Amino acid sequence: MNTANKRIIILGAGYGGLFLATNVARYMKEKTGEIILVDKNPYHQLLQEIHLVAAGFRTANDVKIPILGLIEGMNIKFIQSTVKQIRPDTNQVILESAKIHYDLLIICLGASTKYFDIKGAEENSLPLRSITDASLIYDRISSIVNSDKKQSVVIVGGGATGVSLGGALSDFINENRKSDSISVTIIEALPTILSGWDKRLVMKVEEVLLEKGIRIIKRSPVAKVEKNADGSDDDGNNDIFLSDEGKSKIQSSLTIWTAGIKGYNIPINPEVEKTKDGKIILNEFCQIDRYPNVFSIGDIAAVRDDTGKLYPPIAQIAVREAKYLSDLIPKHFGNEDTSAASHPLSVDKKFEYTINVQLISLGNDDYVGFINNHVISGNLAKLVEEFSQSAYIKTLKSGGRDVLNTSLYGDDTFSHILSGITFAQFTFVKWLKKHSLV
Ligand SMILES: Cc1cc2nc3c(=O)[nH]c(=O)nc-3n(C[C@H](O)[C@H](O)[C@H](O)COP(=O)(O)OP(=O)(O)OC[C@H]3O[C@@H](n4cnc5c(N)ncnc54)[C@H](O)[C@@H]3O)c2cc1C
Repeated sequence: MNTANKRIIILGAGYGGLFLATNVARYMKEKTGEIILVDKNPYHQLLQEIHLVAAGFRTANDVKIPILGLIEGMNIKFIQSTVKQIRPDTNQVILESAKIHYDLLIICLGASTKYFDIKGAEENSLPLRSITDASLIYDRISSIVNSDKKQSVVIVGGGATGVSLGGALSDFINENRKSDSISVTIIEALPTILSGWDKRLVMKVEEVLLEKGIRIIKRSPVAKVEKNADGSDDDGNNDIFLSDEGKSKIQSSLTIWTAGIKGYNIPINPEVEKTKDGKIILNEFCQIDRYPNVFSIGDIAAVRDDTGKLYPPIAQIAVREAKYLSDLIPKHFGNEDTSAASHPLSVDKKFEYTINVQLISLGNDDYVGFINNHVISGNLAKLVEEFSQSAYIKTLKSGGRDVLNTSLYGDDTFSHILSGITFAQFTFVKWLKKHSLV
């Protein structure tokens, strides 16, 4: 089969899509294939940092990377458009601006907020899934700190997003408050915040949040959210009813909904199998079984580990899946026997990844995490966070050519050794800079 002029379309330039595009571009020479990257925005959003925008510790521009600047000189064509529909039966993607054909499609459209059909939740709260959302929260929180009235900020959902946002907002309020009567509350339906995370880390996170003055209410699913009965709804004041037969009601001047996410709802015709959270069900190669030339990664993708558990919706997994596919796709395109109808990956190893490092941001400059089973906080956690952000950007910009930084995304012994060396080098350079030696 002639492999020339094959077209790979990557939908979404988030953590999964952009990393995949830049890392696969170096293998795909113009004569072997064309890579088209599609996003509704002209920029990549550093979503992991948007809670800091919501709290005014970063500007919107700090967490935007213009896509065209980043991919300059790479074999990637960027189309800024909204994806409207996917037609795997005819290998077509329907964009707002055009209809395009693909040979290989990778869906990386991320997630959206899930409201669990809870009455009033969507109408009466703000979500946090984009830079725009974060800017709206910042506007509201700025007027809250400038008010001398009693104010309460309520975050519904004590997962990573809610907890990070709570820490950041609390720092902002403590630094800028005009009145002492501004409270921050996190409401969690389950018996613990950060469900599924290491218990020692959860304890440390709770300790930090409590020190910041945040109230945490657990085992309390929200039943409904209503506009405040006093009629002061212009300010967004709400009554939040908890599921204890309506006995508990919490008043809120600003309600932020971080209680759940679902796969981004993109129409795929004919329909493909999805989980109840709207994630596309994939095989162990991140591939739709029925359509072997369609893959998906990141928050929209439902890929199971060896124990049958879904990989969590975190950037770390989106990027690892992107790295996995960027190693796999060139093989697929180089295979003379490959056709869209055959199973191109039967000889390849499946996607596998063990999470050994996890970090959570708890404010302007606070991180807690664990590395290889050890809980870390303070300067060490901050250093690891800075290192992983720096490696991410360098790997994106170099399209995986920066071997030392890219080694962070490998899951083999050699990569682990290399990333250890890179971390040591990063730490040393930081130390030199701190002491004005470079
Ligand atoms: C506040 C916050 C903090 C977080 N902190 C962490 C953390 O500390 N660590 C961690 O690992 N993860 C964290 N996450 C989760 C992480 O951001 C996601 O897991 C990650 O972004 C998923 O990557 P993705 O590529 O699947 O989707 P995204 O990064 O969301 O990218 C999806 C892309 O698709 C585009 N898009 C969507 N719909 C369309 C459409 N119809 N047409 C065209 N383009 C479209 C979007 O513009 C976006 O660029 C955090 C998330 C939030 C919100």
